[in-house]
Parts: sequence; structure tokens; C-alpha cells
Amino acid sequence: MWNDKKHRRGMIIVISAPSGAGKTTLVELLREDFSHIYRSISCTTRITRKGESHGKDYIFVKEDKFKKMIENNEFAEWAKVHGNLYGTPKAALEANLANGKDVLLDIDVQGAEKIRELYPNGLFIFIMPPSIEILRERLESRKTENQDSLEIRLNQAVKEMGYHTRYHYTIINEDLKEAELELKSIIVKEKNKSLI
Ligand code: 5GP
Repeated sequence: MWNDKKHRRGMIIVISAPSGAGKTTLVELLREDFSHIYRSISCTTRITRKGESHGKDYIFVKEDKFKKMIENNEFAEWAKVHGNLYGTPKAALEANLANGKDVLLDIDVQGAEKIRELYPNGLFIFIMPPSIEILRERLESRKTENQDSLEIRLNQAVKEMGYHTRYHYTIINEDLKEAELELKSIIVKEKNKSLI
């Protein structure tokens, strides 16, 4: 049957945001209620932050290993972000989509451009901070960056925010609860559309 659940591919959901926009928290809140969505686990060459674990937050690899993976065509997309390499493993992405599972990609704007080419039917959501000042405050209070890295991320944030028009939806994360509800309702609405 054409709409047999078994043969329906999953939906790809791409979420991008400048760092400090609250994306990680929103993605966690989303996953609590939408546990059926598979979150793609990226490979990265960046160092592990406190509280992160290998295989759960990221697959942490050395640069030479990452480069081998590029050569072997193992990534659906990859990009250099804030001086580190990040990539979406293709095999897990494709396997989940083929099994009818929706897949969430938390990737930067460069990666989103590539995924848009490969999966034009994907859902693209951008999360914005309410202002640059608030973004700076959030990054400072997070204390995960040193001053240089913070400035790099802020400059990058301004550039990245220019891409928001390339996304289907932009959510301004001023109030976390409201942003969470907006994100969830967008996904439910778009999923229902895709099932018609
Ligand atoms: P962080 O180092 O703060 O975890 O992530 C930095 C940026 O890299 C975030 O914007 C995040 O969305 C992005 N990112 C994480 N994984 C990937 C990936 O696989 N591909 C791309 N292009 N960006 C990624």
C-alpha cells in the first residue's frame, strides 16, 4: 500500500542556531516528549566538554580519523565550525530514515545548506537569541569558552543569524517555555502534513 507505515521514510528535521541561542536545551526538551525521534550523533574533532560523553553527545575522534572518514564518504555533510570539524554520519541517518524514523540533525548553517541539497523535503528550523547582548550574557554565564573562543563564537553568531531566512521557521528563544511549545507544535504540524 502506498501509505503503508512500513514503507514510509522518516522526516528529516534540521535545527540550527548560533551557540548560546539555547538550542541544546530546546533539543533536550523536545526529545523528552518526542522520544520517537532519533537524534543524529555527530562526529567531531573538538575536545570533550565537562559532562559530555562519547557516543551520547558526540563521537569524539582525532583529526586524522575524521579525515579518513571524509575520504571514505562516511558523512552526509561535514563542516569546520569554530575551528573544529563536525560531521553527520551517513549510515545511521539513512538507516533511520529508511526505517520510517524521524531524524533530528543539530547542525550549523553550512551543514544545513548541504542537507537541503540532499534532502529537499526536510524541515528546517532556526533558533534565534532575542539579541546579541543576551547571547553574549548567555555565553559568558555558560563558562565553557575562554575569551578568544567567546569572541569567535559571537562574531560567528552574527554571520549565522543572516542565514535564518533559508529556514522554514525561525523561533526566537526569549522565553524557553514558549520556544519549546513553538518548536513542538511546528514539528507536529509538519509531520501531519507529510502524512496526508
Ligand atoms: P558545539 O561545539 O557547541 O557542540 O557545536 C558547535 C556547532 O556545531 C553547533 O552549531 C552545532 O549545531 C554544530 N554541529 C554539531 N554537529 C554538527 C555536524 O555534524 N555538522 C555540522 N555541520 N555542524 C554540527
